[in-house]
Amino acid sequence: MTESPEALVFDVQRFSVHDGPGIRTVIFFKGCGLACAWCQNPEAMRAGPEISYVADRCLAECRRCIDACEEKALFDRREGRVDWSRCSGCGRCVEVCPTAALRRVGRRLGIDALLAEVLRDVDFFRESGGGITLSGGEPVLHSRFLEVFLPRAKQAGLDVTIETAGHYPFELIEPLLAFLDLVLFDVKLMDSAEHRAMTGRDNETIHQNLRRLVERGVRVEVRMPVIPGCNTAESNVAATAGLLRALGVRTITLLPYNHLWEAKLPTLGQESRSLGLRPPDEAVYAGIREGFARAGVEARL
Ligand code: SF4
Ligand code: SF4
Repeated sequence: MTESPEALVFDVQRFSVHDGPGIRTVIFFKGCGLACAWCQNPEAMRAGPEISYVADRCLAECRRCIDACEEKALFDRREGRVDWSRCSGCGRCVEVCPTAALRRVGRRLGIDALLAEVLRDVDFFRESGGGITLSGGEPVLHSRFLEVFLPRAKQAGLDVTIETAGHYPFELIEPLLAFLDLVLFDVKLMDSAEHRAMTGRDNETIHQNLRRLVERGVRVEVRMPVIPGCNTAESNVAATAGLLRALGVRTITLLPYNHLWEAKLPTLGQESRSLGLRPPDEAVYAGIREGFARAGVEARL
């Protein structure tokens, strides 16, 4: 008997109105091919399950989680130390914690369980023209799961949007295309060396994948996360517009910068860091829109 595939999902967020048309349920898959310095969802980066820890909620006299951990992966939780090489993601520590200082980040869901979860809001989808959005992390890295899940989702009449950063072999997204109603495709930086410095990867594969999607006639909405001082320069805007024009794409959606990710890092045992950036003001967005407009591309917020 063939084993039913499972995917590691770190959140299923209902009633979203920002991730595609209408009211949507967003499925956040874990694992990503990029490591953007400004990643809004640092809990998505690692491909395995994680335990988050909020030190402020932890009781000084309590050691329940340490005693419950058979793998001996926990040491002095007040310092938030986990030996990830030992952690199996079993969740025992989460179950015994009396204060919810520990939380499981990532759960394995099978096809039926995920489908049942998203179908709870099917009436809202119908009324609003919404559906489900596959997000992450990089949902395309879960291609084998999605090849089974998406036909079932379409049978159930669901509209499917995917949010992707585009860094993977095209063969991973190709079998999914017949089931996707909309692809939200992010472009970040046009200079490949700068792209590598800020995301850990060159941008050639991303641009090739975007081109192949557009050439296939897939409904693609290109988006650019606005990272102040990183990709807001006139030269980057002009080069991005040039790429879009060459592909016959005349609109781009600007995604506002949010710095709340910085507070998540310590809870995941990651080193605290800050880009020192704050959301840009209206003048920055106006400058970017003008830059795109000069090149014949309409930038929407
Ligand atoms: S999830 Fe399991 S293995 Fe990992 S730290 Fe908690 S109890 Fe230990
Ligand atoms: S079980 Fe919860 S409250 Fe107790 S030490 Fe562990 S994290 Fe802190």
